Amino acid sequence: MPAKCKVRRDLLLIFILLLAAGATLCLTLLFRLPGDWVVVEVDGEEWGRYALDKGASIHIETEAGGYNVLEIADGCASVIEASCPDKLCVHQHRISHSDETIVCLPNRVVVSVVSGRE
Ligand SMILES: [Zn+2]
Repeated sequence: MPAKCKVRRDLLLIFILLLAAGATLCLTLLFRLPGDWVVVEVDGEEWGRYALDKGASIHIETEAGGYNVLEIADGCASVIEASCPDKLCVHQHRISHSDETIVCLPNRVVVSVVSGRE
């Protein structure tokens, strides 16, 4: 086989691989599960569980005296207020897909989205 042909075949192979990778990425994004529940954990223990499709404002109190205010709206959960000094949790993005989390290290609060009906 002439060398030229081989190069073209390699290019075709690379093209197919890229296409396959792109398609996989698209499918993953398309079928990424929207979450169903917002689970709040304080100090590693489940503190509460809320439906993501119902709007709510939840005041999370920790034993150490701290608090976080979790807001659920439009299928997304976010921390809108907190007693922690760094406010990192407040600045984190709203979460709506399974396995996304908002963490407040000072208050030891973890808010995560999980999927699955109960
Ligand atoms: Zn925080």
